[in-house]
Amino acid sequence: MTTEPLDDTAFDVPEDAAPSRCPECGRPFVREELLALHRGYDHADTLGETAIAAFEDAYEAESDRLNVFRLKALLALIVLYFLLLMTYALV
Ligand SMILES: [Zn+2]
Repeated sequence: MTTEPLDDTAFDVPEDAAPSRCPECGRPFVREELLALHRGYDHADTLGETAIAAFEDAYEAESDRLNVFRLKALLALIVLYFLLLMTYALV
């Protein structure tokens, strides 16, 4: 959303790190996928074809990871529910 350049005081970048930087606003990112997602959301109107393809790949990978997390969270909730139910039934 912001277009003014950001310096590293806004982020906790280690001195020996070589982060990927956004070419539009200079914000540092640990991984290329995070940079692709940032550029897709915050600088969508300035992206070329390869950047759009990188954003779509990163978006799909992130959606897959989010779905796996939702399934794991649901499974943990179900297990916790039955553990509490059995504890209540036996005690
Ligand atoms: Zn940016």
